[in-house]
Amino acid sequence: MLAKTSVRLTMLGTGHAMTTRCYNTCFALAGNADGNYILIDAGGGNQILTRIEAAGLTWPALEAVYLTHAHTDHILGVPWLLRRFAYAPDGARRVIYGHADVLAALHLICRATLGPDFQERVSGAVAYRTVADGDTFRAAGLDLRAFDVQADRMRQFGLEAAWAGGRFVYTGDGRYNAGADSRAVGADWLMGEAFCLERDREFYRPGEKGHGTARDAGLLAARLGAANLVLVHTEDDHLSERRRDYSREAGEVFPGRVHVPDDLETIELS
Ligand SMILES: [Zn+2]
Repeated sequence: MLAKTSVRLTMLGTGHAMTTRCYNTCFALAGNADGNYILIDAGGGNQILTRIEAAGLTWPALEAVYLTHAHTDHILGVPWLLRRFAYAPDGARRVIYGHADVLAALHLICRATLGPDFQERVSGAVAYRTVADGDTFRAAGLDLRAFDVQADRMRQFGLEAAWAGGRFVYTGDGRYNAGADSRAVGADWLMGEAFCLERDREFYRPGEKGHGTARDAGLLAARLGAANLVLVHTEDDHLSERRRDYSREAGEVFPGRVHVPDDLETIELS
């Protein structure tokens, strides 16, 4: 009999772009007994280096990076990873996956901020792979599929991860468009953004930033028929009550289980 696949989601950050009490939303997915993981986004700065170590993840086990979009709070942590890879070579060549726009932005940032000798070292330590809507690839023991969430602002991709007996779908941090439903429907685990609670809508004005509330996320998860909903990319003014209040609000419209992880928390997906 095949051993049950162990799939772990580790949150390195759970906040939106301007949070100061938690890191920007980024996370690791591991689907192997050996603990190799793929990092999804890197947050907005060199705190990513601290977060990886604080979460108990090791550098050699970092197999690949997947970038959803080029906003500051997701992409600016990447040059720090590149520096880490370039100057602590362990022989592994990491793959950085992203759609054409996000990789173009990353190259621009690297050209402007890393010297030529540095870029030379980086090019020996990483390989870039451009992914298009629907492209599949394998990393960290998982079958992965990139898909365009059809956000109405900057181009943004989500990620689908499948393993024997389970499926996880990340719909990104922005307004998800129903055109992507074929990728996101019926997930065992659906992860998406909840900028704030309904009661604080007037204060945070999530709609102006292309975001929604915990209730919006619950309605989406209910419509897509998810079994579990993970809420991330939130404000950080109510961290001590966040789990309780966001779960309650999303749970009023979503019949499945709601998870509101803290930074550095790991959720066993299988
Ligand atoms: Zn963001």
